[in-house]
Amino acid sequence: MIPATQHYEGVDWDTITINPYKVSLKEMNDTILLALKDSFDCEFHPPAIGDISSNFGFRRWGRRPKFHYGVDVRMEVGDPVYAMFDGVVRVAKRSADYGYVVLIRHYNGLETLYAHFNQLLAYSGQPVRSGDIIGLAGSTGRSTGPHLHFEVRYKGEKIDPNKIVYFPSGSLLSDTLQIDKHCFSHLYQVKSVKLKSKYHIVKRGETLAKISYTYGMSVKHLAKLNRISLKTKLARGRRLRIK
Ligand SMILES: [Zn+2]
Repeated sequence: MIPATQHYEGVDWDTITINPYKVSLKEMNDTILLALKDSFDCEFHPPAIGDISSNFGFRRWGRRPKFHYGVDVRMEVGDPVYAMFDGVVRVAKRSADYGYVVLIRHYNGLETLYAHFNQLLAYSGQPVRSGDIIGLAGSTGRSTGPHLHFEVRYKGEKIDPNKIVYFPSGSLLSDTLQIDKHCFSHLYQVKSVKLKSKYHIVKRGETLAKISYTYGMSVKHLAKLNRISLKTKLARGRRLRIK
C-alpha cells in the first residue's frame, strides 16, 4: 500500500526521482497538522543519535555560501541508521551527491531522506517500521567523512529536522508537526542570497588587482570573498564572486 496518497494525489509513485513533486510551499495558505506519534499506528525512532556536525541552514561549501537542507549527524562507518516512522521505502539507490541514499514515504505524510551510507539495507517498495535499520553509516557521495545526512520533506520541500527531533538525545519534540508557510521561510533567504551575489568571469590577462579596481573594492576583500590567497593565479573563465 502506498502511504499518504491523500497528500500526494496526482503524482505517481516514483522509485528513482528524489523530488518528483515540483511544488513550492513557501506561499502555502493552509495549515496542516501531521501526527508524529499516536497510540495506534504512528511510532517514532530517531534516525541516529549523535552530535550535529553541520546544521540545517547556510554554510560555506567551496567558494559560495550554500543552503544545507538537512542535518549532519557525526557517525562511525558501520553505525546503524533507523527509519524514523513507519512507511514504505520509495527510493534506495546510489547518487553522485548523496551516495547510497534511502528515501522513505511515511503514513503521516512526511518523507525522510538518509544519505552517504556505506551499505544500503533497504530496497524500494520495502515496508519499514519505525526503528528498522535501513543502512549502515558511511561517507559515500559528496562527503568528507562518515556521517548521516538526514532530511525531512513534505511534498519534496525540506523542513528543518530540528523542528521534530532533539538530536543530542534522539527525543521527539512533539506528537504533532504543524506545517504552514513558515516552515519554508528559509526559501526566501536562499533566494535573496542568490540575488545578492554577483560574479565576474575572469578574462585573459586579468589580475586580482585589476578586477578589484574595476569593482571599486580592495584586493584583500576580493580574495577573502573568494577564499583565495592574494597570490592566486587566475585562470581565464574562472568565476569570481564580487558581491
Ligand atoms: Zn549534509
